[in-house]
Amino acid sequence: MPATVAVVRCETYDESVVFEAVGRGLELLGGAGRFVRGGESIMLKPNLLVGATPDKVVNTHPAVFSAVAKHLQATGAQLSWGDSPGFGNALAAARKVGIAQVAEALGITYADFAEGRQVSFPEGELIKQFVIASAVLDADGLVTLPKLKTHALTRMTGAVKNQFGCIPGMLKGEFHMRMPDIERFAQMLVDLNRLLRPRLAVMDGVIGMEGNGPRGGDPRHVGVIMISDDLVAIDAAACRVMNLDAGLVGTITHGEQWGLGSASDITFVGDDIDEFVVSDYDVNRSRQATTDSGKPKGTLAKRLIVPRPVIDPAKCTACGTCVSVCPVTPKAVDWKGGKGVPPVHDYARCIRCYCCQELCPERAIDVRVPPLGRLLHRPA
Ligand code: SF4
Ligand code: SF4
Repeated sequence: MPATVAVVRCETYDESVVFEAVGRGLELLGGAGRFVRGGESIMLKPNLLVGATPDKVVNTHPAVFSAVAKHLQATGAQLSWGDSPGFGNALAAARKVGIAQVAEALGITYADFAEGRQVSFPEGELIKQFVIASAVLDADGLVTLPKLKTHALTRMTGAVKNQFGCIPGMLKGEFHMRMPDIERFAQMLVDLNRLLRPRLAVMDGVIGMEGNGPRGGDPRHVGVIMISDDLVAIDAAACRVMNLDAGLVGTITHGEQWGLGSASDITFVGDDIDEFVVSDYDVNRSRQATTDSGKPKGTLAKRLIVPRPVIDPAKCTACGTCVSVCPVTPKAVDWKGGKGVPPVHDYARCIRCYCCQELCPERAIDVRVPPLGRLLHRPA
């Protein structure tokens, strides 16, 4: 099916500017009423990774959340919002971001994603059963609000990946354990989205994150908001903006293959997407896999070739977040010299899920290719 992506210039997070840009994007697609109807209960799912102020560009900006919410409320839809961040409490994180205050001011109910229900999904190509936050299942529809960011595991994090937060808390770690290679992890995300079928995605690309994303990267001004009901297409559009080959992103290739959406047949409406391409966007464009793509865990090859998380002791404050979030038992990053000194990775146990890198609050963990991997994948 051909997809349509609305591309709208938005240079700042000034509330009225963002409101107008989102309104224009929705109109280009036929209006908000095409996606939600009066009286329906709609769940808003921002990208809420951790509690961080908007200048850190880790989360969906509250101005984007506010603009989408106001346009959807104008249709008469009843809104709630929720997420299950990688670490800590969603409401406390949202208060730091500013989303909680916006939601309260607009009368949008907070939905706790801690409780989930098992859902059978026989149509799943890979996963036939998920546990999904009950609040998501109880809503009539889901609207997802991804942020334009880089990601160590999936190269970029966008609309498809954002639904991982609909899986309650610790269960996310289980998926990393069951699917340590990137292709299967991406396939799981595609099945998850085929089950949840978000009605609409509004991507915050006003200021994106580049480099050591999704938490420890740097802000990069892009000046765009993109809107689509096709999540594969909007992620492919994000790749174009980042000057990243969409064929390297598993959620896009498998998403197209399994009928979630279209990456190859996209009609762009609104502003010219090529005006927003940042040719030197700092993103992983290497053809080298970020994980071991199905090789047995603990192989020598994996240890010597696949990119690994590395702690910078000069930046590490020994907070212990990486140890807490590591899904492996026994932990693949742990206190070896006692608490108070940086933890140490055990690369033989590490499954390369990069949760530690994703959630380190001090940007102290980098993902680096080991010397042999660099040698094998050097450009011809
Ligand atoms: S999460 Fe980061 S700062 Fe905290 S102990 Fe781990 S490496 Fe150090
Ligand atoms: S050490 Fe980091 S990358 Fe390795 S398994 Fe644990 S959280 Fe994942």
